[in-house]
Amino acid sequence: MAILGAKTFQNYIRGEWVDAISGETFESTSPANGDTIGVFPRSGAEDVGRAVAAAREAYEDWRLVPAPKRGEILFRFGQLLSEQKEDLAQLMAREMGKVLPEARGDVQEAIDMAYYMGGEGRRLFGQTTPSELRDKFNMSVRQPIGVVGVITPWNFPIAIPSWKILPALVCGDTVVFKPATDTPTLGERFVELLAEAGAPPGVVNVVHGGGGEVGTAIVTHPDVPVITLTGSRETGVAVTRAAADRLKHVHLELGGKNAIIVLDDAELDLAVEGIIWSAFGTSGQRCTAASRVIAHEAVYDRLVSRLVSEAEKLRLGVGWEEDTDVGPVINKSALEKIHSYTEIGRDEGATLLTGGEVASGDGLGMGFYYRPTIFGDVDPEMRIAQEEIFGPTTAVIKVRDIDEAIQVSNGIKFGLSSSIFTQDVNRAFRAMRDLKAGITYINAGTIGAEVHLPFGGVKDTGNGHREAGQAALDFFTEWKSIYVDYSGKLQKAQIDTAE
Ligand code: NAD
Repeated sequence: MAILGAKTFQNYIRGEWVDAISGETFESTSPANGDTIGVFPRSGAEDVGRAVAAAREAYEDWRLVPAPKRGEILFRFGQLLSEQKEDLAQLMAREMGKVLPEARGDVQEAIDMAYYMGGEGRRLFGQTTPSELRDKFNMSVRQPIGVVGVITPWNFPIAIPSWKILPALVCGDTVVFKPATDTPTLGERFVELLAEAGAPPGVVNVVHGGGGEVGTAIVTHPDVPVITLTGSRETGVAVTRAAADRLKHVHLELGGKNAIIVLDDAELDLAVEGIIWSAFGTSGQRCTAASRVIAHEAVYDRLVSRLVSEAEKLRLGVGWEEDTDVGPVINKSALEKIHSYTEIGRDEGATLLTGGEVASGDGLGMGFYYRPTIFGDVDPEMRIAQEEIFGPTTAVIKVRDIDEAIQVSNGIKFGLSSSIFTQDVNRAFRAMRDLKAGITYINAGTIGAEVHLPFGGVKDTGNGHREAGQAALDFFTEWKSIYVDYSGKLQKAQIDTAE
């Protein structure tokens, strides 16, 4: 375990690197082998107050910087991310645990978002419309709102901050960012590169620390009108409550319990590949992970035996070794939670087909590794088929037909991603219409979102907003309608009638 010599990091406020006022710290450690990655300030409400004051002050000028110029900073940021892609991926494999190809994908998503949102600097379209009166001009424009509080989880440590911070910046808002305490080094690198790309002092600030202290202080601060959070449902509810008194705008991306439907006419090889990737990629720690498989009774046995044999081939190990398929889970409490669901599944009467145990041999004992786990004979109402486990565990449910498959897929409180494997275009279109989810994939797994389409879910996955694509702009701006009367007289809408 390497603790001595671990680098010490600071908060970034008003363009300066500073310690927490309390002087307290916490460590970021690798889930792969326990190494200390860095030491970070354990900040509190006073640190948040300073960051918000800096962001509030910077906002007055930033909102007036022409949007194409703001976009150019994002383009430079995209270039810097591209240059640093491999280093960031290596760091991510160490600090968060995901395997290198996925870590590179995480960074690539931020690069894509930087270019997409950079281009938005020359769009940010409003509307012009005719007036009902003569000599009058009507239009609507997007306006920035102010300081945005950005609170992120650890599972996409570069991509998720980019989904929030980049649209906020191009729209003319300023940011106070609290990264997850499991991945602070990546959050710090993100902000460092934004500063290098030309974000002026105070436009982006980072304050490290826990959700209870730093998160709550951001959410309740009177000068932060907009909060964007990706995290668990429980945190989403707590944040909504804390923000309610000030009627803040709250954007939530929360949990999932996503299912892949495999019908009797599915291309089975493709379905197996899609399920293994969606269930065990990122060790199942994606909000879009396939933690349920809904199999038509005609293919159930064949599918289950193929899945078990493919899952057992997956190689567990540290994410930075190129031949690792599945890395560690994020920390000890995640490992314990995942294992507790194996016990729950057994007690509920599901059949444990493979996995179901902590992996500690072959030098894995220093990290948090869990064997890819598949349950069969799962009833849709069992807890393992209803609750988010956020680990490499999937539950296979047998159904008679497409009607039952759609009903089971929809029979949960979440509604993020969904998928169906079928060769029948009619069934595919029924699924597109009837699956209650923010995202539906046809003949692909539940993961693979692209940055130019809206991202988010229905029901308890969120509160109706979307990230990415054009939809993101709606959260980070407010519409203003403008009426210009050049008739020289007082014209009354709805009362005067133009001839
Ligand atoms: P979490 O809810 O524990 O933490 C998320 C962030 O919120 C962290 O930065 C944390 O410090 C902060 N936080 C915690 N309590 C807070 C409070 N009371 N006030 C303010 N901030 C607080 O989630 P996690 O364990 O980091 O991430 C896993 C969860 O995130 C899963 O439920 C997963 O489904 C969800 N997730 C959703 C999406 C999506 O887009 N829908 C994407 C990724 C992850």
